[in-house]
Formats: sequence, structure tokens, C-alpha cells
Amino acid sequence: MTILLGTVLVLGWMSSKRVRETVTDDFNQQQLVLARHAARQIENSLESIKRELFLLSLSPSIQYKESAFMGDRMKIAFSRIKHEGTIEMRFTDTDNKTYIVSDKIKFTTNKADSNDIECLNRAKDENLKGTLFMTKVTIIPYNNNGGKPFMKMAIPVWQVSVDDSHPVALNKFSGVMVFVIDISSLIESVVNELRSGKTGYAWVIDKDGTFLYHEEKSFIGKNAFEARKRKKPTMSFTRINEIQKEKMLKGQEGKSWYISGWHRGIEGEIKKLIAYTPIKIDEKNPDRIWSVAVVAPISEVEGAIHSIHLQQFILQAIIISVILFGGLFINFMILSWSNILEQEVARKTNELKKSEQRYRSLIENAEDLIYTVDYNGNFLSINKYGAKFLNKNRSEIIGKNITEIFTWPSSEVLIVMIQTVFNTKESKQLIHMVIIGENEYWFSTNLRRLWDETGNIYAVLGISRDITDRKKIEEHSYYTEKLASMGTLAAGVAHEINNPLGIILGFTELLLEKYPEGSEEYEMLKTIEKQGLNAKRVVENLLNFARHKDHKEELVDINKSLRTVISVMGNTIRLNKIEVKENLQEALPPVLADEGEIQQVFFNIINNAIYAMSQKGGGILTITTSYLNSDTVDIRISDTGDGMKKEHRKRIFDPLFTTKEVGKGTGLGLFISYGIVTKHGGSITFKTKTRDESPDTGTTFIINLPAARVATKEI
Ligand code: ADP
Ligand code: MG
Repeated sequence: MTILLGTVLVLGWMSSKRVRETVTDDFNQQQLVLARHAARQIENSLESIKRELFLLSLSPSIQYKESAFMGDRMKIAFSRIKHEGTIEMRFTDTDNKTYIVSDKIKFTTNKADSNDIECLNRAKDENLKGTLFMTKVTIIPYNNNGGKPFMKMAIPVWQVSVDDSHPVALNKFSGVMVFVIDISSLIESVVNELRSGKTGYAWVIDKDGTFLYHEEKSFIGKNAFEARKRKKPTMSFTRINEIQKEKMLKGQEGKSWYISGWHRGIEGEIKKLIAYTPIKIDEKNPDRIWSVAVVAPISEVEGAIHSIHLQQFILQAIIISVILFGGLFINFMILSWSNILEQEVARKTNELKKSEQRYRSLIENAEDLIYTVDYNGNFLSINKYGAKFLNKNRSEIIGKNITEIFTWPSSEVLIVMIQTVFNTKESKQLIHMVIIGENEYWFSTNLRRLWDETGNIYAVLGISRDITDRKKIEEHSYYTEKLASMGTLAAGVAHEINNPLGIILGFTELLLEKYPEGSEEYEMLKTIEKQGLNAKRVVENLLNFARHKDHKEELVDINKSLRTVISVMGNTIRLNKIEVKENLQEALPPVLADEGEIQQVFFNIINNAIYAMSQKGGGILTITTSYLNSDTVDIRISDTGDGMKKEHRKRIFDPLFTTKEVGKGTGLGLFISYGIVTKHGGSITFKTKTRDESPDTGTTFIINLPAARVATKEI
């Protein structure tokens, strides 16, 4: 603000200086115009005098001195030019008689005086015929106070014109017509009204430096170089004298200033502006010039400047106020705007932060694995849940490849899909299996592309949901459905086979009685009977499964049931060199179940275990019970057999799936067991290891059954 004010002040000072110069110059230029105007008018006045003189010289009444008309003719001319300072007309003839017309003396004749004679003698010169001539300015004493400048203008008069009375021009010299001119009143008639500013005026000097006219009347007729000094001897008039001498008397035009001692009535050192220009009074004699000056005190200009300054001051004040208030207003607006803007930015930032937080927490806490990967399957990011799911720190995942996180071949499938998404621009949804470490999971995965600002695809966004449980339920219901349909099928098939089988076995029995023991026929029939009975057992088993036996529900002591089954199978166990380890948890909550069915499950599983171990000549059968929590009873039956081959593992619960030779397995044991356990709201799973996988081979079946709540309380 200070800088602004300073600038305005400096500019103001500069412009005021400039204004002063300009106004002064303009004022003086105006004075010069006035001076020129005065000069032209003086010249015009002299011109009209000359014209009148010339016309008069051509008048026959003058040339031929017709006394009757001569006076009138001269009076007419006089009346036309008396305003221009002509005070007398004198015609002097060759008889030295002078005819005079003046303001006071109307028309008189007189004997020529010496001046008239002098003029007459000069006019006689034939070379001057038709030519005007002027006398020098003479100062005629006037009042007591100096003199008046006079000048005569003359023309020789010859008898050259013709009219009615003088039909032939005599061409004789007649005399000289002289106009006596009061120069100061001639000039006064012109410059009287001239005003420069309020008080400025004009003065005129002739070639000799004599004042022909001045506002200060006492100066008229006096030498301009002396008159001033005489009026104010203490003052130096160097400047004006210089101007008069060097410029005005040399017929130059110009503008300047000087110091005067007075102006009109006022005395004192006054600076005056002066503009001057020459007056050409005789075109035949260009050297003969006067000079008119228009002068005015500098105060005239000061007044103008003052009013201009006032205007300028007001204007500046207005501009400064406008700038100040405008500046303040703009500042205020900027402030309030920036305030509003700040608030708005803060609000938006806050909103953004919040929405980012919301978004982040949404992603972080989503129960999905959310991650981005590049074309090669390297992790670029992963959410918290994802890292937790993979049981790793985020830093252990980011930068790693999918193949390092998921086990082959599940990782390969994903990479192929990711690259397909990159290449085909299509989103992909897939349900796939992944192996993380030892565990299998089922994922439902959505893959879509991510663009950066320039439209480049830089990543694929993956959202994977763990659907392993769902998959299990699906599988479960698959078995349940299979069971149901198998039941119906089995019932029908069993029935159809049972009858012909009965007939086959009946006839076989009859035929056996006809052949002696040891005969070839007898042995053949024995084989038929054996195989027939086998078939019958399968059919009975099927029928057992299919038959809707009455399902009992009682509180079953699992430990007791297991012991019963083991003791029933004791013989087989011993024969196969199997050691039994019982690891039974006492005070096991009972299970609400059909005891017969539960025992059948145990029987089937132990039977399989014995078979598996019998293949390698014995082993250890470990039976463990425990309760995981008050809700579930956990039963584990482990053998030290060779385990199940990988390709078989998926199918062991399938009906009729068996790896045993004909007659040894029906492929129904686990199928039926699965049906029973699930019917009781439990689950049956297994873990198995073959020689490739572990030196400790074997299989463990895990049966979970829901504990009976009421019973728990009773115990
Ligand atoms: P089966 O015993 O008549 O073959 P199961 O349904 O009982 O039919 O068993 C199906 C198959 O599961 C068996 O053939 C065998 O391959 C496999 N299996 C079952 N239990 C075991 C076990 N303890 N050890 C190794 N394999 C087993
Ligand atoms: Mg079996």
C-alpha cells in the first residue's frame, strides 16, 4: 500500500511538473497566436490605408485638382480610414499649395509647409510614379509626457486618369498625396481588445526599438531599452532587452519569459511570459518591420495550473480512494473467498478421507481375498483378510508370484485366467481349487482389469471367496441324493436277483447230493454254490441298506459300542496279528443314535482297517475317542496299513467302489457308513498316507457325532 501511495505521489509530482510545463507552453503558444493575429490586423490596417491612398491618387478630381469635388473625394476616403489612425490627408500640388482634410479641419487649403515640400520633391521622381512611400517614424511631442509616433504614407499623383471632363490623360505630375498616421492609435484600434489571460496585453516596437504602442501610455514614443530602466532603475532588464535586441528587432518570431518590475498597476518583480512576432509594414522593403509582443504575468498560467491542479488533485484523490477501497474490497473478498475455499477444501478432504477410510475398511475387512496382480501373476497388493487367509504378512505376499503362494497346478490355472483377462478385456468368474500348503480350498474368483489415468491396463483385480464349506455341503447333498437313489435301486435289483439266486442255490444243493464228494462235478457244483452264496451276501447287504428298518433312537455309549465290536471281531484281529490300542476317553457324552447302525459303521471301518493291515502281515489298530467340546464326540480309528492311493481317495465313499479282489469286497461298507453317520447329523472323513508320502503309512477314519445334550446333564 505504501509503495502504491509513493508511486502515486511521485507520478503526481511528475505529472504536475509536466502539466505546468505543458500549460505554460500552451499559454505562450496562445499568446503567440494573439500576437500573430495582432500583426496581421495591423498589416491589414496599413494595407487599407495604402489602398485608399492609391485609389485617391487615381481619382481625376485629385489629379486635375477639381476644387468642387476634390474636398469631397478626400473626405470620403478619410472617413473610411480615420479609425485606423490616419489623422490627416494632405495633398500638395506643384504650386506648393496644400489641400488638407482632417478631423478638426474639414477641408482647407494652405501654403505648403517644409514637410509638404520635402514630400513633394521626393514624389517628383518619375521612378516613384505609382509607388507608395513611407517616411520614418517621427515622434511628435505630445502633452508633457513624451511624444506620439507618427508616420507619413505618400503617393505621387500624376494626371493619368481620364473622365468626361478630361478625356485625354495629360500625364503631368500633379502633386503628392500624404496621409499622416498616428501609429499608436492605429495599433491601439487593433490591440485594444486584445487580452492574454485576464491581464495580459500587447506592445509594439519599431526597428529602432521605439515603443509604437504600450499599455503603459507614457512608454509610447520612448526607447524600449531605456524606458524601463528609467521607470525602475534598480532592476535589471537583461532578459527582455536581450529578447528585443536579438529576436524582435531582427524580425524573428518566438516565445520566452522575462522579469518585469510591474504589471498594469501592480509593482514588484513579476515573471512574464512573452510571445512576439514581426509586423511587415512594407512589402517592398522587407527590412522595414515592427514587432508586436504579447505579454502576461506567469500568474495567469498559475491560475490555470492551479485549477488544473485542483482537478488533478481531486482526480488523484478519487483514483487513490478507488484503488485503496478497491484494494481493501478485493483483499476482503480474497480473504473471505479463500476462507470459504479453505473450508470447502477441508470439507472435501475430510469427505474424501472418510470415504477412503470407509472404502479401505470395506476392502480390508471384507471376508474375501482382494488383491491385484500384474500380467505375470506377481502380487501388487492384497487386503488384510487375504493375508490372514494365506497365513502370511502382507510384505511376504506383495512382490511374490502366485506360483509361490498357491501350490501347482492350482496356481497355473489362475495365471492362465489372469493373462486371459489381460488379453481379452473380459472379466472372468471361475470356481477353482487352490492348494495352500497341504490344504485344499475351493475359491469362487472374479477377475477384472484395472486401468490407470492414461488408459493402460496395469493390473488385474482379483476377488476370491472361500467356498470350501459350500462345496462340502454340495458334495454332501450329492452323496445323500446318491444314497437315496441307490436305496431304491438296490431294493429293486436285490429283489430281482434274490429269486433266481435262490433257485440257482436250490438246484445246486440238489445236484450236490447226486455226485460223490471229491468228484469233478462235485467240486464244480461247490464253486457255483460258493459264488452264489457270495452274490446272496451282496444282495442281502443291499437289501439291508435299502430296507427301511425301524430307526431307533437311544442314548448310545460310544465307548461301549466300540468295545462290543472289537470283542466280536477279536478272533479275526488275532488271526491277522493285529495289536489293538484303545484310547477311550472316559465320561464321554452319549450320542442319540441307533446303536445297531452305529456298531455297523464301526464294524465296516475296523473291518477295512484289518484288511489293510492283513495285506502286510499285521499292524496296530488304534481306537481313540474324545469330545472336542460338549457338542461333539470324536472317534478315530487308525491303522498302520499302506494307506490309500491318491487316485482312490475321492471315490472310497462311492457305492460299489472297491479295490479288493472279487469275493473279498463289495464296495458298500463305506458307502453305507457314510449314509448312517450323516443320517445322525455327524461327519466322516479320513486322513491317509502312502509310502510316497510318509514312512509312517496308514489311514485314520474320523467320525464326529453330535453329543446328546440332555444326556450330558444326566451324567
Ligand atoms: P470294500 O471294503 O468292500 O472294498 P468299502 O466301501 O468298505 O468297500 O471300502 C472301499 C475301498 O476303500 C476299499 O476297497 C479300499 O480300497 C479302501 N479302503 C477302505 N478302508 C481302507 C483302509 N483302512 N486302508 C486302505 N484302504 C481302505
Ligand atoms: Mg469294506
